[in-house]
Formats: sequence, structure tokens, C-alpha cells
Amino acid sequence: MKIFNTMSRTKEEFVPLEPGKVKMYVCGPTVYNLIHIGNARPMIVFDTVRRYFEYKGYEVNYVSNFTDVDDKIINKANEEGVDSRVISDRYIEECKKDMASLNVRPATTHPQATKEIGGMIDMIDNLIRKDYAYKAQDGTVYYRTRKFRDYGKLSHKDLDNMQSGLRMLAVTGADQKEDALDFVLWKPKKEGEPYWESPWCCGRPGWHIECSVMSKRYLGDQIDIHAGGEDLIFPHHENEIAQSEAANGVPFAKYWMHNAFLNIDNRKMSKSLGNFFTVRDILEQYDPQVLRYFMLSVHYRSPLNFSRENVESAKSAYERILNCGENLKFLASHTEGELKEEEKALLEKADSFRVQFEEAMDDDFNTADAITAIFELVKWINTSVNGESSKAFVEALRKELFTLADICGLFIERKEDVEDDLAAYVEAQIAERKAAKKAKDFAKADAIRDALREKGIILEDTREGVKWKKV
Ligand code: AMP
Ligand code: ZN
Repeated sequence: MKIFNTMSRTKEEFVPLEPGKVKMYVCGPTVYNLIHIGNARPMIVFDTVRRYFEYKGYEVNYVSNFTDVDDKIINKANEEGVDSRVISDRYIEECKKDMASLNVRPATTHPQATKEIGGMIDMIDNLIRKDYAYKAQDGTVYYRTRKFRDYGKLSHKDLDNMQSGLRMLAVTGADQKEDALDFVLWKPKKEGEPYWESPWCCGRPGWHIECSVMSKRYLGDQIDIHAGGEDLIFPHHENEIAQSEAANGVPFAKYWMHNAFLNIDNRKMSKSLGNFFTVRDILEQYDPQVLRYFMLSVHYRSPLNFSRENVESAKSAYERILNCGENLKFLASHTEGELKEEEKALLEKADSFRVQFEEAMDDDFNTADAITAIFELVKWINTSVNGESSKAFVEALRKELFTLADICGLFIERKEDVEDDLAAYVEAQIAERKAAKKAKDFAKADAIRDALREKGIILEDTREGVKWKKV
């Protein structure tokens, strides 16, 4: 299995740190608004990567954070005259609903920055003790970038070139950095902002430190894969490496994966250009599965152009998979019997599409080619089954199609939209509650149950698992 590593800029064979296990951290959204379709790209792409590892038999520990302390959240809270926690809690919930609609499975853990401040203080303290960080007069703590010899190794930037660009900033800026390249680990509070006590001043963390700390806490000092959108390569991921490797004394992530951007009508999607869509905007017009299909129809390292025309063609392409799945479902209830001799040979042919699918996925998760393999399977099924086929044959093909589509998180049968979105959301919450219980975080498990109850969903723990009903 090969993965393109941003660090080496080549495809490398995937060798896990621990056999059979994958430790994976994906930078999640800043929660101040409904997520946009750009944010949905890494969610869908890396959820598919996770599904494929699981299909291959790996146990995946998947961590994805919510950044819940940030200027944008604070501004929004001030606009609405509420505490910033009201804003972040609201948009974490909304984000989880969007993820459930898009069939993005909940992470093993979804840590939140504001709940990990103690760990951040410990890591900053450690960096100060090792001389990788220092406190300025006003209480700000900076990372001493030049001391970290490998700085720039991920983004392939040269420190001296960066220096000339930044010198102006240092001269004109009011801050008290030793060097223009130094970045903030902790900053003093300002009026109207949330803050925490620390050995340096009452304040809040800089953005980068949260991911170093949460990754260490939930996955350990060394992880297999660290991922996110390509805008995060610099400075976010570069700074994470500097923090984690200086603090822990070992290499941080083995493979760095970055998805390219989603553009709208071939232009960068941005609020200021007015070409900005939330996932909700799109789901008013399209089935979430169409959006998911669309995101996977292009390789994750290629830019993805969102236009009505492209989404419409995704819609009709995905319909072909659905029609095939629906046809198999119909035939399964209208045929009978065991596999016939000639069908056994045909099943071997069906398996060749799975091989083709795997080859594409093994080549840096090429979902575009993997989906082509699904279409070839669909085409072949359409000409190979009919009313004369045995039930066993139809069921075997149904399973084959289901397995490949499911790795992409795609359904092969139509669902009743509204009820189904609710079901997906509740199932995701149940999974998260189960994970919280396993981690002995009973307060969180209870909070999930209570939040569902407020929405009129009652959970029942039974011997067969958790059941739920609407009241
Ligand atoms: P943010 O909330 O801006 O930190 O973004 C959360 C995640 O979405 C990060 O991994 C970003 O790189 C990614 N992201 C943001 N905008 C886009 C876009 N237009 N296309 C693809 N990924 C994006
Ligand atoms: Zn991050």
C-alpha cells in the first residue's frame, strides 16, 4: 500500500509503527459557523482512508479535533452577546449532524482544545525548560523557531528566505519576539476573551499547540498518519512538528497526507468572493450521498472543482450504482436456489473488479480509479444477472457491490431521506457514547444520552446492544 508523503514528496510504502494498527490524526474545523463544503472534503476523504484501512484488517485509532477557542469564535460570541462556549457547542453539534448526513463516521475521539489546556501548559513548560520557548515581557510565550534545526522540512521552506519576508513584520509589529520566525504558544488575555491561568499569564493557547498535545494524549508521541487540507502544511503542521519533536524527542508523524482544495467554478472558495456554500446549502438540493460521491470522484491530491454541472453529473453517475443496487435487492427477493455451476465461474470474474478496486486504493487512495472499478462491476452485473439467476448468485453480487461501495461510504440502495439522516445521526451519537464508556468517561456518555433525550430520542441499553426510539 503506497501513500504520498508530503514530507518526502514521494509515494512511500505504508509500514505501520505497530503491526496491524494505524494511529491517525486529522485536523478538524474551527467551530464558529456551519461547516462549508471545503471542510467536508478532508472529512470525507480521510473517513474513506480509515474505512479502507479497516477493510484491510487494520485497527484504526482515528482522532480528529474541534478547535473551540479562536478569534473567529470569540467575535461571533461577542456579536451574539453570548459566551464563546455557546457558539462552539452549537457548531460542534451542527458539524456532527452534517458528518452523520455525509456518512462520515465519528472519530474514535473528538477532543476539544478547551478541554486540554492542562496538557498544553505542560508541553509549553517542557519546551521552555528545554530552551525551545521563552516568555516575553507581556507574558506571551513564543517558540524559538531557529533552535529547531529541522524547521521547514515538511513545507520544504528555507528559513533564510522566510526570514527576509518576515523581517518587516518584526520591525513594525508591536510584539516582543526575539526573531520574526518565532510563533506564539501562549498569549495574554484581552478584554472579553475566555482565558485560563498559567505560569506565564492569564491567557489562552496559540492555535498550533492544541494538535501537538491532543495527538500525544490520544495517540502517543509517534503516530502513523497526520492529515488535513493543504493550507495546513505551513505554518500549522510545520509548527506542530517543531513543538512535538522538540518536546518528545522522537519523530512525530510517519506519513503526512494533505488534500487539495475545493474550488467553486474554478475559483478559490471564499466568503469575500461570495462563492461560499455550507454543506447545508447543498443538502437542500442534493442527496448527501451525491455530495460524498462527488468528493471521491477526484483523487484527493487534485483540486476539485465544484460547479452545478459537475454535481449534476455526479448525481447521474451515482444513480447508476443505486439502480444496480435496487435491481439486486428486487431480484434477491424474487429468485431462489443455490449457486449454479456456471455462476461459480462468473463469481471469479466479479472478484476481479475487487482486485482492480484494491489496486487503485493501494496506490495512494486513488478513489477516482476505485470508483471506475465499481462502475465496471455495475456494468458487468447489469449484463450478468436476470430473473433466471439463483438467489445465491444475486446475493453474492449484492455483497460484492455493497463491500466496495461501503469502503467509499456510499449506499447501494435508496433511503428515506429525513428518517435516514436522523438514524445516521443517532447511530453516530450511540457510537460516540460507547467509545466514551469504554474510555471510562461516564460524564460524557451521560451527556450524550441526555442531549438525545432533549431531542426526543430515548436510548435503551439491552443485551443485544443499544436500541433507540423517538417519543
Ligand atoms: P478550518 O476550519 O479552516 O481550520 O478547516 C478545517 C479543515 O478543512 C482543514 O483541514 C482545512 O485544510 C480544510 N479546508 C478548508 N477549506 C477547504 C477547501 N476549500 N477545500 C478543501 N479543504 C479545505
Ligand atoms: Zn491541527
